[in-house]
Amino acid sequence: SAEEVTAHYLETIRKSKINGYITVSDKALEQAKRTDSEGHNGPLAGVPIAIKDNISVAGLPNSCGSKILEGYVPPFNAHVVEKLLKAGAVILGKTNMDEFAMGSSTETSYYGPTANPWDLERVPGGSSGGSAAVVAAGEAPFSLGSDTGGSVRCPAAFCGVVGLKPTYGVISRYGLVAYANSLEQIGPIANNVTDIAVLMDVIAGYDHRDSTSIDRNTEYQKALVDNVKGLKIGVPKEFFGEGIHPDIEKAVWNAIHKFESLGATWEEVSMPNIKYALASYYIIAMSEASSNLARFDGTRYGFRESGENWHAMVSKTRAEGFGSEVKRRILLGTYALSAGYHDKYYLKALKVRTLVKQDFDSVLSKFDVLMAPTMPTPAFKIGEKIEDPLTLYLSDVNTCPINLAGVPSISVPCGFTDGLPIGLQIIGRPFDEPTVLRAAYTFE
Ligand code: GLN
Repeated sequence: SAEEVTAHYLETIRKSKINGYITVSDKALEQAKRTDSEGHNGPLAGVPIAIKDNISVAGLPNSCGSKILEGYVPPFNAHVVEKLLKAGAVILGKTNMDEFAMGSSTETSYYGPTANPWDLERVPGGSSGGSAAVVAAGEAPFSLGSDTGGSVRCPAAFCGVVGLKPTYGVISRYGLVAYANSLEQIGPIANNVTDIAVLMDVIAGYDHRDSTSIDRNTEYQKALVDNVKGLKIGVPKEFFGEGIHPDIEKAVWNAIHKFESLGATWEEVSMPNIKYALASYYIIAMSEASSNLARFDGTRYGFRESGENWHAMVSKTRAEGFGSEVKRRILLGTYALSAGYHDKYYLKALKVRTLVKQDFDSVLSKFDVLMAPTMPTPAFKIGEKIEDPLTLYLSDVNTCPINLAGVPSISVPCGFTDGLPIGLQIIGRPFDEPTVLRAAYTFE
């Protein structure tokens, strides 16, 4: 029964060693019992799920991993949560994340880091580190994350699970706390590709409350066909640049050769503007963040510090409430948008974004999918990179170009190095999740 399944997960969570959840729902068991007694027959009837803590679930705290939202409990459900509940899913709780999704290791969370279930001394990736780690640790059968520049795929790769960043517009962002609106999508994380397709069939779809939502009917589970005969794979050499761990390079090539043995063909290609993607991504992401995070002023949500007048209150609240990575990004983003620098930085970054997009359009007109390593290295040690933001930003080199272009991309496990999982990234044409899923399904 749903009650038994939910009780099992709650018990596993209780014994957890990874700090994957910020909030465990005290209503989960009750909700499961109700699903049983109603005889709910939705596609996810009684199936538990974990939700990243920047996606609104009515009645559960929504902290975004930040002190500034302490005590904030949203009164409404995100579009994806409405859909999950309608399908019968049981919400287990809210998962740990980098503060406001800014990071690649889940170490910037106000609630402490999450450990990687494969090695508790290592990071689970980020920013949806909690969502990936709880799936890998058996503390949820699947979860939702958000991916602005890799935040679903990076932790999926580091934790040895599957994570999909859908095409921009496919999933409503209503109820997702915005970090960089033009880049991000909610994405599913699961143990296998089938579960990803099942979740996509539930959560994707048009929503008038998100002006970038797209009205298309895609049947994701129908894409699960075990056949890649004739599939044309492009292998962009820029994704195998300096700093890629040799075992990761080897594992990804082994995967590509496996596709070849199954009837696919591959060819190396060049995407000359990819080398500028990381810089463009960070300028755009920080600029959008500096504007989005202006709403956290102590007046409306969560934490408030007292001050002699309104300005003092806002400034003290923000000084106390935000962590140092968030402050760094607000400052840099404000700088990049300010008069006199706007053209030099923000506008330039937008122009580079167009060039990156054109690179994708050009190679994806010749190939069905592109394949590359998701991350240049396996999971690193907790504390190893956190003092050096630039090194941490560099770890997004293979994931953030995809968000600039808005195309779909999945990370699937493709091997190990020293006992740590490696992720293969399969990138597709806009709205061609079916081909991406078919390739990933055939591979696993
Ligand atoms: N690591 C990237 C960043 O910090 C990506 C984060 C994300 O996708 N939310 O911006």
